[in-house]
Amino acid sequence: MNVQGKSRPLADSYSRTVSYLRFSVTDRCNLHCVYCRGLKDVPVLRHNELLSYEEIIRLVRIAVGLGINKVRLTGGEPFARRDCDALIVGLREEFPDLNLRITTNGTLLQPHMDTLFKARVNAVNISLDSFNAQTFQRITGSDSLETVLAVLDELVARGMRVKINAVAMKGVTDRELEDFLKATARWPIDVRFIEFMPMGAQTIWERDSFLSAGEILQTLGSMSRLTPVENTHRDHGPARMFTVEGHKGRIGVISALSNHFCDSCNRLRITSDGNLRTCLFADAMTPLRDLLRNPDVSDAEVAQVIRKALANKPIGAELLRQRRQAAVAAMSMDSIGG
Ligand code: SAM
Repeated sequence: MNVQGKSRPLADSYSRTVSYLRFSVTDRCNLHCVYCRGLKDVPVLRHNELLSYEEIIRLVRIAVGLGINKVRLTGGEPFARRDCDALIVGLREEFPDLNLRITTNGTLLQPHMDTLFKARVNAVNISLDSFNAQTFQRITGSDSLETVLAVLDELVARGMRVKINAVAMKGVTDRELEDFLKATARWPIDVRFIEFMPMGAQTIWERDSFLSAGEILQTLGSMSRLTPVENTHRDHGPARMFTVEGHKGRIGVISALSNHFCDSCNRLRITSDGNLRTCLFADAMTPLRDLLRNPDVSDAEVAQVIRKALANKPIGAELLRQRRQAAVAAMSMDSIGG
């Protein structure tokens, strides 16, 4: 199925056009990152509560018909779901020109490496918050830094476009900025710092743990010569990117809190249990799973439900400003997909 030139663009009530769909393919994750689910024992969904791969592919088909041309598989940890390769291959077979991307912690990726290349996955984002084994262990609860670095090496050597996402935390990231800079010298990758967002009722987010994009840029700018890169074709997403003099890679910041980018938000999210979320910060969701499982509901009817939900896509920054408790949303990223 061709993903270009579909029906009228999917637009919300603020005239933002939506072209990017993110799927949390599972809520399970093998890591326990402190800023995400942490060490808390979270009940995971039963298999039949997750969207099946057929349901995900059907939803992509419907979304492509609405003008979506970019899909990201995330989680939980996408490679923690059994036979994730079947989904990747299935998507590529049906949508040869879909911009297909994956966000992963990299720890379980190695056995799936060949599939990513065969399926022509367009880019892999690896969440990596530290290049120091002890810090990595402290943040994730896992000692798999070397595994992730080996995967990163191989992906880059085989020509995959790779981005590193690091959640910025005061007292942690700011002490290791030089390591991230060195990574841009070693690999031709984009290293992006994401401002820590207060997500999930149990969030450990505090004003004191917040490290802003501005602070990061100031420190990095004192260590190296950074030059802003124009985001001409929106190919950086919400990130502000910079070249680093003499380095192969670039650095960037995603300032979800300090300098929001709601005006240009082009995304929709589907949670692992099939709820459509039109804004990361809004807990209001539109359930799609039961519709997909109802033999009397057509693709056109599902499409209509998506259009209707989109009409109410909020401005997330407003929700953030109006929040009464630390967390802006009750659900943490592992269920939403980041
Ligand atoms: N397991 C995969 C991974 O680690 O990339 C995919 C899921 S993870 C929830 C997706 C992204 O959300 C990661 O880049 C993670 O760092 C980010 N994330 C999770 N909680 C966050 C928070 N509170 N603030 C900012 N980013 C967060």
